[in-house]
Amino acid sequence: MAMMFHDKRGEYFDELETMSPEAREKFANQQLQRTVGYAYRNAPSVKEMFDRAGVNPSQIKTAKDLEKLPIIRKNDLIELQRKNPPYGGFLAIPPEDIDRIFISPGLIYEPIQHAGIKWFAKAFWAAGFRKGDVVVNTFTYHMSPAGILFHEALRDCGATVVVMGTGNTDIQIQTMRDLKVTGFVGTPTFLLTIIKRAEELKHDFRRDFVLKRAWFTGEMLTASTRKTIEEDYRIATSQAYAVTEPGGAIAYECRYKSGMHFMDEYIVEIVDPETGKQLGPGEVGEIVVTPIHNKNWGLIRFGTGDMSSYTTEPCPCGRTGNRLLGIVGRSSDAVKVRGMFVVARQAEQVVLGFEPVAKFQLVVRRAEQRDELTLRLELKGVSVDRKKLADDLGEKFQSLCRVKIDKIEFVEKGTIPENAKKIADERSWK
Ligand SMILES: [Zn+2]
Repeated sequence: MAMMFHDKRGEYFDELETMSPEAREKFANQQLQRTVGYAYRNAPSVKEMFDRAGVNPSQIKTAKDLEKLPIIRKNDLIELQRKNPPYGGFLAIPPEDIDRIFISPGLIYEPIQHAGIKWFAKAFWAAGFRKGDVVVNTFTYHMSPAGILFHEALRDCGATVVVMGTGNTDIQIQTMRDLKVTGFVGTPTFLLTIIKRAEELKHDFRRDFVLKRAWFTGEMLTASTRKTIEEDYRIATSQAYAVTEPGGAIAYECRYKSGMHFMDEYIVEIVDPETGKQLGPGEVGEIVVTPIHNKNWGLIRFGTGDMSSYTTEPCPCGRTGNRLLGIVGRSSDAVKVRGMFVVARQAEQVVLGFEPVAKFQLVVRRAEQRDELTLRLELKGVSVDRKKLADDLGEKFQSLCRVKIDKIEFVEKGTIPENAKKIADERSWK
């Protein structure tokens, strides 16, 4: 399945990216059955999980069948590794065959094989990294997977990598100039810090540097930051969604930047975090991932705690994978209203995007067997067309958060307490 590296690869990194829906389903099901069977036979915790759920691995034939299994979350993994050190019973190969071990806060030990790296380069390839690029990799090279995995993936695209790591802003700036660095890999915040510091040092960033491409993960890129980096500094941006526990990048942007294509090396589910049931396109739920390319680490149905939705709409780039539509927040900040999850951070982005709004709170109540969503608003000033504001806000909220606000109430300044929850759930279920 893994492709050899060819210089003349063209637009796509491998043939998986452009599979037909039928071919993708067949590929995913085959890989899933193989992964599940292998993990059941070789990883004791996986066997225990299946047995407890009363599921035989032969019953897991398609992505839909994964619903029969429980979701493993970060805290479960920490607990299992503590009880059964060091890998919590998820290691499915002999320990002497592990080629590297990463350490995540928790602590969580993650044995990741070299074989899992090639596919990772897809994200960088789609972002345009090629031979001739000189790239500073500003992710840390110790403990966490980011530094070394991104480094090797950039090499798989042919780029030269500066082994930089985090911090040392002034050295970063000098290095970027001296080595004529064309690519940046890191977080948007750190790139902005570098640019700001370079300007303090009296550099004209657009004139003195040749940085043309930046690739981000670990922090969501807001529309306004993206605009600043692309328009003010003429640096093309792309981002990927990565999770360390199951081993890396799960979804990545192409040049159309209309969501992040799923990696075919994983089965990505968007589920109701309360029931574990899969949701359809456009519905907001928790991202749950199952690696199907990696035999050594039997992490099946890992719940990331991140909330998102996906689209099946075709993408002009020609990649046929479904796309993840940004991370809207954490499942711990989500409240279910009439069957749909409203996530505090997403609501905040929508509501505070309206200039006259000073503060807000969403309140969910139960009235006549139906959830009722009220938006309470404190305004900055008095001279506002409230009717128009309420109409515009209601419309935008519904189109982005997919739930209709039933009532908008304008309240006096100081009514909403400073430390109030963004979404107050006042329903009682008597
Ligand atoms: Zn695309």
